[in-house]
Amino acid sequence: MDKIYIENLEFIGNHGVFKEEKMLHQKFSISIEMETSTRRAGVNDDLNHSTHYGFVSDHVEKVFFSKSFDLIEALGEAIAEEILVNFPLIQKVKVLVKKPWAPIRKQFDFVAIEANRQRNKAYLSIGSNIGNSEENLKRAISLIDSLKNTKVTKCSSFLVTEPFGDVIQDNFLNACLEVTTLFTGVELLENLLNIEKEMGRVREIKWGPRLIDLDILLFNNDIIELDNLAVPHPWMCERSFVLDPLCEIAPNIVHPLERKTITTLKRILDKSSN
Ligand code: ATP
Ligand code: CA
Ligand code: CA
Repeated sequence: MDKIYIENLEFIGNHGVFKEEKMLHQKFSISIEMETSTRRAGVNDDLNHSTHYGFVSDHVEKVFFSKSFDLIEALGEAIAEEILVNFPLIQKVKVLVKKPWAPIRKQFDFVAIEANRQRNKAYLSIGSNIGNSEENLKRAISLIDSLKNTKVTKCSSFLVTEPFGDVIQDNFLNACLEVTTLFTGVELLENLLNIEKEMGRVREIKWGPRLIDLDILLFNNDIIELDNLAVPHPWMCERSFVLDPLCEIAPNIVHPLERKTITTLKRILDKSSN
């Protein structure tokens, strides 16, 4: 990916944990590295297809003077978020915040933090088989869309599907969503579990009836193996109620472990269940 750089923007500010730092002010130097394609702007010699580094610097300055941050970690985080929220062509950003006059009684050039942040793309499976399932899916979509720095960018049709597992229960209504978010995978999961709770889901029997189920299928190309989060979703390739709607909105994306497209995975599953 191409990059745009802003090197060592200097400001005098009052960020720091100690009250002396808040009173006396000191120098900060901020460097920004933004991943974006410069191809269209390069070929057309047209700034409309690129990101204006002057405007980016203005946004950095605005965040810098917005308050007194205790930590340069928090300042870097706020700058990274400001850039990703306001400059849609930027896919990833690296923010380096240097503090050359940090209160350490040693000889040194500077202390610094580097925050690497990016726009994430996730695919979700949503399902319901209690109450008005269509209303439940719609409400969940609207709650997901109103999460901080998160947008639902694609939605499959709602498919009626047979329940999975041995429990006798009503048919499900299932769908898949494409979502862009600044949350990490774990943060997105926490937010989805909160929405399930807010909507009134109670966990009773495994694979039993549920008002709403929100699962993360894919998160960028990431492979996540944590106690509370497995991505890609471990069972997605065996579930037609996942692959059918997912294939509508993301037929050509590649499963990072199987290394096959969703279309191919669906074809394999369709064949094995016939
Ligand atoms: P299944 O995983 O077979 O679809 P389920 O959706 O019925 O089962 P839940 O009771 O909704 O399971 O969730 C149990 C836990 O699964 C959650 O609390 C969550 O921590 C964990 N989990 C692990 N990986 C994921 C993921 N990719 N998406 C959602 N939850 C996950
Ligand atoms: Ca599930
Ligand atoms: Ca779940």
